[in-house]
Amino acid sequence: MSKAIIIGGGIIGLFSAYYLNKSGWEVEILEQGDLTDNASFGNAGMIVPSHFIPLAAPGMIEQGFRWMFNSKSPFYVKPSLNPELIGWGLKFLKAANKQHVERSATALRDLSLLSKKLYTDLEQDADFDFGFADKGILMLFKTSKFEDEERHTAEKAISLGLDAQYLTADECRKLQPDIELDVLGAVHYHCDAHLYPNKLMVALVNHLEKAGVRIHRNTPVTKIEHIDGKITRAISNDKSFMADTYVMAGGAWTPAIAKLAGLNIPLMPGKGYSFMVDEPQHRMTIPALLCEARVSVTPMNGQIRFGGTMEIGKINQQVNMNRVAGIVESIPQYFPDFTPALPRQKDIWFGFRPCSPDGLPYIGLSDKYKNLAVATGHGMMGLSLAPATGKLIDEVMNSTLPSASISQFSPNRY
Ligand SMILES: Cc1cc2nc3c(=O)[nH]c(=O)nc-3n(C[C@H](O)[C@H](O)[C@H](O)COP(=O)(O)OP(=O)(O)OC[C@H]3O[C@@H](n4cnc5c(N)ncnc54)[C@H](O)[C@@H]3O)c2cc1C
Repeated sequence: MSKAIIIGGGIIGLFSAYYLNKSGWEVEILEQGDLTDNASFGNAGMIVPSHFIPLAAPGMIEQGFRWMFNSKSPFYVKPSLNPELIGWGLKFLKAANKQHVERSATALRDLSLLSKKLYTDLEQDADFDFGFADKGILMLFKTSKFEDEERHTAEKAISLGLDAQYLTADECRKLQPDIELDVLGAVHYHCDAHLYPNKLMVALVNHLEKAGVRIHRNTPVTKIEHIDGKITRAISNDKSFMADTYVMAGGAWTPAIAKLAGLNIPLMPGKGYSFMVDEPQHRMTIPALLCEARVSVTPMNGQIRFGGTMEIGKINQQVNMNRVAGIVESIPQYFPDFTPALPRQKDIWFGFRPCSPDGLPYIGLSDKYKNLAVATGHGMMGLSLAPATGKLIDEVMNSTLPSASISQFSPNRY
């Protein structure tokens, strides 16, 4: 039996372990934390084939500059002379064009649809209960500017074969009768779904441990050794771990892990916040994205989770209450009778999206090391794309035909 070591126990590392274990590999996961928190826990739980436009897209730069001067804005790049940020920014600028968006759309759609199918299959497995609901998501807009943008994106989605439907304000109200709405309309992406990520993470860890995957918690990889184009061991302080093949799935920390092996994987952490609200009388049954505010609203586990903001900068543990206030203040603009209080700092979750400069994930084998695969850079879509990523990692490591094209996701593209 071949053995694989996976560095990082987020949703991407766990799904890589899941498919490798299924196809007969002996698998060990090395995780620096205790697997009770990382970006994969507090996210908005949306499975989004509708997101076929990468973050690096025309319009983002202009919008980003405008938002930089608003302390409550949903997008912020912390100005800094950090060479990693400068290099990332230049690559982002280069990628943010129409051709890149066109080229990426089909590849992202296929990856997302594969993932959604795998989630649907997983739900049939008795070991897994993760609040999966196949109700789509609503892109709610209030202004004609966003109506135009959303209509245009929906037309493109339909031309890509995705199930999207334009709704007037009245149609939105009929669909969500238990909550007052102040919107101009919405696009309902029936192709999307949602789940409860915290429950999924726990179910995956339990399943993997039962299935024989060894998970080493509190085991940060601090050194990687290699000889003749092959990784030979991963070292965590005084312990060393050896396998036939290694997978780097360290999320926003991957650049630091890659550096241990002399590799360059450009990535910046994109910090986001979320919090849960108890408002059963205002139950939304269908998750929504509030377009102008860039806020996510997801019913999960009997509560509603609000999420948002993207702060591109270094990994840090501070909670920026101004940005959380920005999320809170946007809620009644769309749901006038819903005015949640600013949560206490201790009730605010934050996590770091691993953002590649071109908005595409890194999935595939390294050119530099024959026995290394990379699985990261999923940005805003890591939960959504995780099962497909895990399956593709298993396929490339078994040298079988991949279930979806990965040519655009090469980890060697920079
Ligand atoms: C507010 C918010 C909302 C979001 N909403 C959605 C959504 O609705 N849908 C969606 O698809 N995505 C969403 N995302 C994005 C999604 O959460 C991420 O893309 C995804 O969780 C990334 O998973 P990962 O496994 O790559 O990283 P992580 O979950 O961060 O896991 C990486 C792991 O690697 C470990 N690690 C790091 N360094 C080392 C080391 N040296 N040795 C060992 N282990 C190490 C870390 O401790 C961590 O556990 C959202 C993100 C945020 C912040």
